[in-house]
Amino acid sequence: MNLKFNDHLLPVLPAMDNLPLDRIIGITSTVPIEIVFAAGFIPLDLNNLFIGDALSYKMVEDAESSGLPRNTCAWIKGMYSATRKYHIQRIISVIQGDCSNNEALMEIFQSEGIKTIPFAYPHDKADTGFLHDQLMMLADNLRVPYSKAEEMKKHLDAIREKVHKIDELTWKEDRVTGEENHIWTVSTSDLMGDYTTFNERAIRFLKLARGREPVRYDLRIGVIGIPPICEDLYPFLSTIGAHVVFNEIQRQFSMPYHTKTLVEQYSQYTYPYDILSRMEDIQQEIKQRNIRGLIHYVQSFCHRHIHDKIIRKHIRLPILTLDCDRPGPGRMKTRIEAFIEMLKYHEPKTPVISG
Ligand code: SF4
Repeated sequence: MNLKFNDHLLPVLPAMDNLPLDRIIGITSTVPIEIVFAAGFIPLDLNNLFIGDALSYKMVEDAESSGLPRNTCAWIKGMYSATRKYHIQRIISVIQGDCSNNEALMEIFQSEGIKTIPFAYPHDKADTGFLHDQLMMLADNLRVPYSKAEEMKKHLDAIREKVHKIDELTWKEDRVTGEENHIWTVSTSDLMGDYTTFNERAIRFLKLARGREPVRYDLRIGVIGIPPICEDLYPFLSTIGAHVVFNEIQRQFSMPYHTKTLVEQYSQYTYPYDILSRMEDIQQEIKQRNIRGLIHYVQSFCHRHIHDKIIRKHIRLPILTLDCDRPGPGRMKTRIEAFIEMLKYHEPKTPVISG
């Protein structure tokens, strides 16, 4: 089984033909969608539009044909093609806290007449004053009172809570597969542009998952790093007895911590900040979820690959680093199989984690 958005009871991508183009705001990474929804716009994560497309592989080639370098990350190329395919006219672009490729992509959009709205995370997550100013600027830009965005946070918190329950059903009760967990958590970046539909589907999925038999598996693993672009990783892991009970960055998109304000929420969200902030979360979840080994997914041509050295220094669980270039079947099955076999015969110990 290889799930995609829109499959049975999973989050659904909007029918683009029915959406008012002037209300759509594309996003290149997780941004405060509370402000976007409160202002009456429809946030759509360009990554989801790209990877959810039946022709995502071709979208990468199309971007290359139109001049994007082959040695640029495929997420960037996919976002570029998704923007062109759906004629998106306005985009919020993260200019600090994501990557320089994204900054260059914003310049391409600008050169092609697309309106771009910059948003920056602070360099230091403790700089809440900077973050507050950025949130206010975004609210001003979209002409919505900031208090309305805080109200929207309460509403979206109740919806995200359902995804946290789906996550719990993955690692506490084994009733949700790693792939379903990946799809639900990754799609919280934009709630698929329609939080009401997302909420309804999450309720239905929870009911279904609670009533079914637990997943059978031999061992529990985690996938850390950015969401994998290759399409067969999770189904393949299931077939060889590995249950993915932790999807690190995707879980971060779901805003997993209890917070009272937007500033608190977006300063606890680990993705835009230094790797050591991420390590704390990873270490805690390894212990809590009883994980035997990690796959560190790195995207070809992404600077985040460099973090692998730090991750290996701090976490002394077996780690397999995998990289993949573009959508489609990955070419790493032999390595994954060897890793999982090794874990099966590796004496499970309390993970040694250094601080
Ligand atoms: S995978 Fe890396 S290079 Fe590509 S968009 Fe994400 S952060 Fe940037």
